[in-house]
Amino acid sequence: MRVLIVESSPLYREILQQSFNRFRGVDFVLSATRMEALAEAAAQTVDFVVISGQLSDCDGLSLGRQLRCDGLVPIAPIVLLTSSPSAEMAMDAERAGITEIFRKQDLEELVVFARHFLDAQQPLRCRILYVEDAPEQRLALTAQLREWGAEVDAFASADEAWPVFLGGDHDLVVTDIVLGGHMTGSRLINRIRRQVAPKGEIPIVALTAFDSPQRRVELFHLGIDDYVAKPVFPVELRARIRNLVARERAEERSHKLLEATELGVTVVDEEGFVLSMDHNAKRMFGIVGDTVCRNFAHFLVNEQDGGKCMESLCWLIGEQDIQRLRFTGRQVDGHVFPLQLSSLEIEPADGGRRFALLTRDVSDEQALADQLEAVRDSAARLGRMKSEFLSNVSHEILTPLNAIVGMSFLLKQRGLPGDAREQVEHIDAAGHRLLGLIDEILDFSQLESGKLELESVPVSIDGILAGVAEAVELRAASKGIGFEIKAAFMPSDLLGDSVRLSQALLNYASNAVKFTERGSVTLSASVIEDSNARCKLRFEVRDTGIGIAPEHLGTVFDSFCQADGSSTRRYGGTGLGLAITRELVELMGGEVGVTSVPGMGSTFWFVVELARAAAPLAVLQGQDESPLDDIARHYAGKRILLVDDDLVNREVALAMLSVTGLQVDMAENGLEAVRAVREHDYAAVLMDVQMPYMDGMQAARLIRTMPDRAGLPVIAVTANAFEGDRQRCFDAGMNDFIPKPIQAPLLYSVLLRWLRGARGATGNSAARIFLSEA
Ligand code: ADP
Repeated sequence: MRVLIVESSPLYREILQQSFNRFRGVDFVLSATRMEALAEAAAQTVDFVVISGQLSDCDGLSLGRQLRCDGLVPIAPIVLLTSSPSAEMAMDAERAGITEIFRKQDLEELVVFARHFLDAQQPLRCRILYVEDAPEQRLALTAQLREWGAEVDAFASADEAWPVFLGGDHDLVVTDIVLGGHMTGSRLINRIRRQVAPKGEIPIVALTAFDSPQRRVELFHLGIDDYVAKPVFPVELRARIRNLVARERAEERSHKLLEATELGVTVVDEEGFVLSMDHNAKRMFGIVGDTVCRNFAHFLVNEQDGGKCMESLCWLIGEQDIQRLRFTGRQVDGHVFPLQLSSLEIEPADGGRRFALLTRDVSDEQALADQLEAVRDSAARLGRMKSEFLSNVSHEILTPLNAIVGMSFLLKQRGLPGDAREQVEHIDAAGHRLLGLIDEILDFSQLESGKLELESVPVSIDGILAGVAEAVELRAASKGIGFEIKAAFMPSDLLGDSVRLSQALLNYASNAVKFTERGSVTLSASVIEDSNARCKLRFEVRDTGIGIAPEHLGTVFDSFCQADGSSTRRYGGTGLGLAITRELVELMGGEVGVTSVPGMGSTFWFVVELARAAAPLAVLQGQDESPLDDIARHYAGKRILLVDDDLVNREVALAMLSVTGLQVDMAENGLEAVRAVREHDYAAVLMDVQMPYMDGMQAARLIRTMPDRAGLPVIAVTANAFEGDRQRCFDAGMNDFIPKPIQAPLLYSVLLRWLRGARGATGNSAARIFLSEA
């Protein structure tokens, strides 16, 4: 390809040359003057001419005119470059045969413009079927097309050309219309168009000597893509061929892209009748050959939505926006598969409406989803098994533990001599440690399964701090370390879950005492943000203990994680406490954190935001009198029923109750309990849950059917430790819940509440948490 540049300034010539250098295979012919340019154009053919508006020996416009008039550049584009184009100049340029005028400063535009012309000079890489009965025309055009790079199968008649067309792989058909032989050009076109795509859609250029508007219209109706009148001007034919081939290639490209996406494309009419199907869609539905005249619903399984498939399909087609629906696809051999279908309206301008149905076989995705579902199911099943296992095991552990803790409590009450007292204290401490451990495991399991629900009741922050202090102070004192609470004035109208707040803080506090040998532990609480509706609090436990190495700081809140493996042996523990604190705090919408210097101490903190009550609250204040004293003073002589199948448990409970002055009847199972309740008017029933013959739940249900026992408080006493167990007790008609091992203070306070005539249970499991750590 040759570009002639006519420019007097060497610098601008260089700039122009650089701009054209981005095209491959361009040769430059450079001239500074009109004379030089004329000589160059006469000596060799040029494909593109750029002339500067002002040359040293003439103006560019007159040079352009001369190149055209003298026939030196008959067809190639001539472009004029000027710094200030005007309408008048544009008119003159048009008359002179100049192709376009560009401003010198808009070189980029010139380059884009030139690209189209230079691209058109590229070899025609296509295979053409050419039919022309005039031998000399056929030979001349064949030679010309071949020279331009095309592969040409040339024939004198359509009869000869037809089998070659059927067996060949052509990009384009160029055919004369008036032909000798059986088949005219029009019949050839007609036959081609009756073939299925892609053969039937090959671009066709008609050549004819009998050119008239009517003829042209006929030919277009027959299905030609373009038309050239004879005598053929080869350069024009080339331009048309290039155009058609380029368009076909672009279409091929989009087909290939679609094929690569594995998206099937089916074109349907408004009622869903198939007009065409691409390769992917055919493969998806197992179709070989033609598909036309079938409704697309034929490829969908109708039963899946109660025969509404056709309706859904019509709805999908009618929707303007792309929608995706799931169907079950059906291949022609009956095989079914999951299918995703969306619809897109195409060519809405041509009268009848057409829609492209885009289909995607989602078998793999579905299989993956099924697998995930199966994994999820089995995880859920395992989760349930784990919960059941934990529930059973904890029940089995808590029942004997009830005896251990209860008996040691009773022994301590007796005032044993020195050694024996110490031994009992050890048994008691060990029992409580074990109890704490079970609590941690159960809490963790509940948090992990997302079953733990928080309460939102009035909380006293001072009460929480005091409770935590009470639980750890003794241990701190026994280690010789100080324990201090620092809390400014706390709002009294906060709502939250005091049990869980206490638990979170107690985990910090007991760790602080555990990991500190000298110095002190400080517990603090402060308000960091306060508004009418909410209040943000920061709790902090600072110690002067062993501290945590920086590399372990990031993981101490993880479950089962201990900063230093050797600390397990030295200090004991499960690595669950901090994980529970974090889970609890996060459940409250807060966050946890720690800073620490090894050897100097640690500060564990958490921040939670609590709601403020709309109206001022009366937070339960501690009573002046202990529950035990209260019962002894006001309710001594009242008759209650204690139901438990385990002799030791009965003894423990009985011993605890003996100091209350209450009159205690005993039953060994639900059946006995129901009988007793029917015969006597009890003030309350303490009901074990798991018992032979008739369990506590059934007994409670029966008691609730007795007309005159509707108000009788039935309190579950059970080693079934999960939240769900508690709920089941309430569902069976029980009024409250005391977990085993029975903690005497809790027993007294719950009993007192019901002796006083409380309505509705309140959370009392706090007692276990406090006492388990005591
Ligand atoms: P446990 O104390 O039962 O091992 P935690 O989850 O409560 O489990 O604590 C995890 C680990 O974090 C502890 O084993 C200990 O290594 C470290 N840790 C927790 N609190 C402190 C503290 N106050 N000082 C030093 N190390 C601590």
